[in-house]
Amino acid sequence: MTLDDRLKSEIEHRRDALIALTQALIAIPTLNPPGRNYLEICEYLADHLGARGFTTELIRAKGTPGDSERYPRWNMIARIEGTRPGECVHFNAHHDVVELGHGWTRDPFGGEIEGDRIYGRGACDMKGGLAASVIAAEAFLAICPDFAGSIEISATADEETGGYGGVAYLAEQGRFDPDRVQHVIIPEPLHKDQICLGHRGVWWAEIETHGRIAHGSMPFLGDSAIRHMGAVLAEMEETLFPLLLNKRTEMPVIPEGARASTLNINSIHGGEPEQEEGFTGLPAPCVADRCRIVIDRRFLIEEDIGAVKSEISALMERVKERRPSFTYEIRDLFEVQPSMTDREAPIVRSTAAAIEAVLGREASYVVSPGTYDQKHIDRIGRLKNCIAYGPGLLELAHQPDEWVGIADMLDSAKVMALVLVELLDPA
Ligand SMILES: [Zn+2]
Repeated sequence: MTLDDRLKSEIEHRRDALIALTQALIAIPTLNPPGRNYLEICEYLADHLGARGFTTELIRAKGTPGDSERYPRWNMIARIEGTRPGECVHFNAHHDVVELGHGWTRDPFGGEIEGDRIYGRGACDMKGGLAASVIAAEAFLAICPDFAGSIEISATADEETGGYGGVAYLAEQGRFDPDRVQHVIIPEPLHKDQICLGHRGVWWAEIETHGRIAHGSMPFLGDSAIRHMGAVLAEMEETLFPLLLNKRTEMPVIPEGARASTLNINSIHGGEPEQEEGFTGLPAPCVADRCRIVIDRRFLIEEDIGAVKSEISALMERVKERRPSFTYEIRDLFEVQPSMTDREAPIVRSTAAAIEAVLGREASYVVSPGTYDQKHIDRIGRLKNCIAYGPGLLELAHQPDEWVGIADMLDSAKVMALVLVELLDPA
């Protein structure tokens, strides 16, 4: 039997352990926001990996957004050294999950199994991927005790809310510095035959138009901020959206629609604030003196963030030329640069080879429409050799009745184990 075959059958033997670990992780409701049970899940994983020879650390991202005595931002890193010097392969999974939403027909924390599926919040995004990476490492250690380098597994906080109390914090502490970690796989649910090289960029901003309040029966005495915003939106429809649709990227973004630049208007608020639910009175007659929208602009690796921002300020200026009475403000809320790992990078090549060896077909390469923790590993950690690869279907993430396939988890665990063989030179 070849080494690859021994590893694959070792993983098949661990099928029950993989299911049990996935269920145990789903059973800890790490809902974010607000960030519940982070310590519990980190302790659970530290116990699990500690019992298998890993050195484990729990790290609280004190003072990061959302961190409090009630909801501390805990992270776990486990590391095991080989018998010889070499490179470090790091598996990073976020342990937080999003709110449940409506429409569940299963217990969201029950880890129910039906056929090949395990159900639960976080099953695919991404506790199934986390469990698969743990089983991959365990199988590798059992079959290849003599190897070069080291393996790290981390479970980190807050990916769903930006990752500042998780990977960003750890990267700032030097945990992803290239002299410490050389290869990173993030087992997000991108499907077992796809390698995700990176993500598009993001710019969130709030745009506010200013007018002047007056009595609603004499609107000519005031200046309506809502009408100014209407003109801004009309200008976007006429000139901006067609322009964005025509900006196409070489990045293999999925789904296809996200291969262009996109802009979403997240919200719009103007005039009198909405009253609390249950208020039965009438609104007051006023001309709106403020109107705000929040925009979510996703940009391509071919675009420059400065140009992305000037596109919006130029649009505002065009509107102002026709409506000199109004003023406006644009406030930056959040930005992320696009990230794309080179196809020739060692982690990409070895994962592609492992996918071919396990699944008997060529890997496909994709880029995510939205960002994930790779942004921090790239920008703060300065580590370019990073991909997302893991079991599960992205479409199921954040949905009711989320599930992950057991066969997919086993296959991607085999791929991850073969990547370790490729990169850690077992004797
Ligand atoms: Zn995720």
